[in-house]
Parts: sequence; C-alpha cells; structure tokens
Amino acid sequence: MQEARELFKKLKIRTLLDLALIVPVSYKDTTLSADLEIGKINTLEAKVEEAKYIGGKLHVHFKLLRTGRKLSSVFFHATPYHHKTFSIGSCHIIQGRLEIYKGYLQMSQPKSIKEAGKIIPVYKTVLKEDEMRSLAARYLNEKNLCDEGLESLEAAILMRMHFPKNKEEKLHNERLLAQDLMGLKFIEAYNHLKKLRGKRMDFPALHALQGEIDTFIQNLPFSLTSEQYSVIEQIQKDMARKDKAAKRMVVGDVGSGKTMVMLAGAMIAYPYQSILMAPTSLLALQLYEEACKYLPKKIAVALVMQGKEEGEYQKADLIIGTHALLYKEDLPQVALVMVDEQHRFGSKQRQRLEQLASREEKKPHYLQFSATPIPRTQAMMESELIDMSLIATTPFEKEIETHVIKKQDIGNLLGHIKEEIAKRHQVLIVYPLVQQSSEVPYQSLEEARGFWEERFSHVYVTHGKDKEKEEILLRFREEGNILLATTVVEVGISLPRLTLVVVVGAERLGLATLHQLRGRVGRNGLKSWCYLYSNAEKNVRLERFAQTANGFEIAKLDLEFRSSGDILDGTIQSGQKFRWLDLASDEESIQLAKNRLAKDKVKS
Ligand code: ADP
Ligand code: MG
Repeated sequence: MQEARELFKKLKIRTLLDLALIVPVSYKDTTLSADLEIGKINTLEAKVEEAKYIGGKLHVHFKLLRTGRKLSSVFFHATPYHHKTFSIGSCHIIQGRLEIYKGYLQMSQPKSIKEAGKIIPVYKTVLKEDEMRSLAARYLNEKNLCDEGLESLEAAILMRMHFPKNKEEKLHNERLLAQDLMGLKFIEAYNHLKKLRGKRMDFPALHALQGEIDTFIQNLPFSLTSEQYSVIEQIQKDMARKDKAAKRMVVGDVGSGKTMVMLAGAMIAYPYQSILMAPTSLLALQLYEEACKYLPKKIAVALVMQGKEEGEYQKADLIIGTHALLYKEDLPQVALVMVDEQHRFGSKQRQRLEQLASREEKKPHYLQFSATPIPRTQAMMESELIDMSLIATTPFEKEIETHVIKKQDIGNLLGHIKEEIAKRHQVLIVYPLVQQSSEVPYQSLEEARGFWEERFSHVYVTHGKDKEKEEILLRFREEGNILLATTVVEVGISLPRLTLVVVVGAERLGLATLHQLRGRVGRNGLKSWCYLYSNAEKNVRLERFAQTANGFEIAKLDLEFRSSGDILDGTIQSGQKFRWLDLASDEESIQLAKNRLAKDKVKS
C-alpha cells in the first residue's frame, strides 16, 4: 500500500471521503453503437483486413463485424505500437469519430478499446488517469463510505458518480454535476468538520471556577449588551467544569466591548488567579487602566511589560501584560489564561503561555479574543476545533459615514479636515508605503509628509517598522492634529478624539483591513468619517463596503468578492480550499453537516 500512500500524497488528500469527493469530470462510454452515426463518436467491432505504411502514415482497412461494411483509418504518426496492434486479422473494438468520404466510411486515429459496454470515469487530477481510476476502484465502495459516516443513500450517490452502470446513470450524473451540487457540498462540509473534530483535544481543568460576578456587573456605569451577557454566561458554564478546561474564542468587532468580557472572566476565576496577555504595550496599558477602573477594589491587578511593572504579579488576582510575561520564570500557576487580539501572536507564544500554567495533563481555562470578524460559515466550521462566541453588535451605534473619493475631491477633504481639527478632533491618514515605489501609484508616507506639515501643525508620522511607534502614538493621542501612518494603527489602540480617517489607495487593501482602519474613528460615539481615496475608475467592492458597518457582514462580503476572484492587496486570492463548497453561500449545507456530526456523537 506504500504506493497508494504516495498517490494520496500527490493528490494532497488524507481521508477516504477526500478521495470520494474527487468525482469524475466526465465519462468515456464504450457501449457498442447500435447504428452507424455519421459525424459522431462511434464504438464498433472491427477486423483488420489490410494495413500498410505510406509515407510515415499507417493506413488500416477494417471490416465492420456487424454490417460487413468497410471502414478505413489513417494513423498520422504511426509507431511500432500501432503496427503491432493493428496486425492483419486482429479484431478490435474501435472508437472514434465516424465520417463519410466519397461513399467510404472513415475514422481517423481510432482507439482500440479493451472492453465494450463500459462507462469509464474520466478524472482530472495530477495523477495518470489509470492511477486515479485504480485508486477509486480499490478504495471506494458503499461499505467503506458508510464506515466514514455517510448514510447508504449518500454512499450510493457517490458510488454512482464514480462508477455509473449504464447510460442513464451517466446522464443523471452529468445533470447533477451541472446543476445540483447539494449532495457533494454536504459531504465535503461533513468531511471537513470531521477532520476538525478529530484534531480537537480536551484536557481536564485545574480548577472549577465559579466566582461571583453580580456586584461587578451592577457597579458598571452602563448595562451590558445582551450579547456581552450571553457570552459571559457561556464562559461561566465553560469554566464551572473541572473535567474539561474551557477553550473558547470570542470574536467581536472593534468596540463591541470585549474588555468587559475579559474582566468578567477574571471575576469568575476569583479567588483563583488569571492572566491576560495583549500584543502591544499600549494595549496592555489600556487593559490595565480599564481593569483598575472597573474591577472591585478587592481584585489586585498587576501589569508586566518590558521596562514597566505595576503591582506584584506573583500575588495579583489578574496579571495583565505583553509577551514579556512569557519570559517570567516565576509566573504563578493561574486558573484562567486570556489572550487579546490572539492572531497577533504566534501559535508557539500562545501555547507557551498555556503551558506555563499547566500541570500534568491539567490545563487552565483558556479564552482567546479576536477583533477580526469571520464569516458565520467559517465560525460554524471552526467551532468544531474551538468553541466560538460571536459579538455582532456594539454598545452604541457608531455614526460613521464612508465615502469613496478621487483626486478632484481633495479640496473638500482639506476643508473638512480643518473643521475637525478646529473642534479639537483628530485625523488619521493612512498611506500604502513608507517610501516611494514604482509599483504603487500613490504617494508614500515620506513623499506626502511635507504637504501636510506645510498646511497643519502637530502632524505626527509613524509606521510599522518605526522603533518609536508606541511613543509617537502616545504623544499624538495627547497633542496631535494629524497622524500620518501606514496600516500599523490596525492594532486596537484607542484614540477617542479621532473622527476622520483617510485611506490612500484603498482599493489595494482587503476589506478586513479597511474595516479595522475605519474602526479607529468614532470610538466614543463622536460622529465620524472614513474617506477611501482611490484613483481606480470604479470600485464596486469599496462602494459595497461603504454601505455597511457591521464587521460580520463585511467578512461575508469579503468572501463573496474573493470567491469571484477579485484582486486584493495586489494579488489574486486563490485560497479556495474546497472543491464544491462555497463558504459565501453554502451555510445550509454546513448546517446539515453539523447536525449529522452531532447525531454521530450521540450514537458513539
Ligand atoms: P473591544 O475591545 O471589543 O474593541 P472595548 O472593550 O474596548 O471594545 O469597548 C469599547 C468601548 O465601549 C469602551 O470604552 C468600553 O468602556 C465601552 N463599553 C463596553 N461595554 C459597554 C456597554 N455595555 N455599554 C456602553 N459602553 C460599553
Ligand atoms: Mg479590545
């Protein structure tokens, strides 16, 4: 079976269902033709009466067995193989297009077929046709498919797709492939979900956490949104268990109030200790300030960053910090680990933090937070691997107008910027690059800075590789009018007076990035504007983006444009990993597959 394993590898597949989902693209039919059909592919029994070479071509004269008629064929690049195959007196089943020339039947370059009356699947893969056919023949049968969790009807449909028994079945398959992929979509979703579930590993928790949170919630200066509540309830349920450590991802748009969920987490953990790790010092500091402000005084909060520490982290109830935490030798063994903006950390870093807090096979409860909304369909899939909570609403409606603008709008834009600054509001202008590049048809940060510095005071400049980035952002927050930056500001720092953002070359950025940038303004409910500057002729994607503010809808929009092959960030997105399933539109198939998987679980 070594050989089969190699073939699986070449096909980049791992499971039997993966193989089954590679269905034939078409079929070869070797059923003998009942009548001669001129102009069409015919399959005929014939005997060689004469064969001769003339000028490198092999001319063969056949006699058709059923009718006795003569048929002549020419092989243009005849090889010794042809010569040997079509020896005088040999009988064949020949297949090819039948023509008539001056009353004589002709078939040029016919194939000699081994067996008549078969419908042979044609696969389009990296393998040779024979290899793929024999793999399918060897591994695919109804029993195997049912063992993989399919019901017998589904298995039968797949078997019929690979090995149709007759013309009717073949026609049926062709119709199915052209119109109704529901069955295949379902099987593909099911196969994918099963793989994810197989990867999930659960461990017992160090402690069951059941701290009281009512007083904390009652003392907040606002009431929690219903989504914040329900996420907190989910977390309470997760963490009350000792047999299984919580493993949950909370996904919520910028400004959806995830910090309150984190603080509630620390309350539930109390009197046990918790850790909260953030990707930048600025974010850690912000979380620390909020923790001190909103948590009851009995909760001791500590801060750990490079070059700055507050409180005694060994004893604190909630330890907040950056990755500097990972290098502390004497971190206490906490009962709850939380990571904000989890995608900004490598998986090694996240694991390390979890391991620091693990004992034998017992693990801390683990909550991750992400401000990158994902499409519902993707969340449905990923929830097999890690529990998912989505927060789709924000505590207060942000009022942000989004406009796509061009060169001729710059005059008005300058006027608007002056108005905002006069109100002591702040402006962010995002450039695609730090330095000029011939590949990008826009000004760079360095080229543009003179323009702004001449016209405005308190202009600050920073970018991703800038070592003083955080320092500059802090100073800008206090006294800046305009911040010129690259997409560094994507990270969730809060600049409450920011009310206007301009994105230069917006069509070059993905919708998720644009959404993050737009999320920088109007943090405290101030009316705000987002201008997407683009010199592209027409941009449907940006126009659609301008019409919605909900991150989850934008994630869905992004998918739609991706699957229609739109160009993002200068490259064509080819990351389609499913053969049949389209995450942008096939929620129903995914739901059906999830239901089936849930049923499997009850059975086993
Ligand atoms: P996120 O981390 O999800 O981007 P934050 O937790 O920073 O969002 O919350 C954004 C702002 O909304 C903060 O100023 C926070 O104090 C405030 N906030 C959070 N929850 C509520 C609520 N239920 N009602 C009113 N304001 C809230
Ligand atoms: Mg946050």
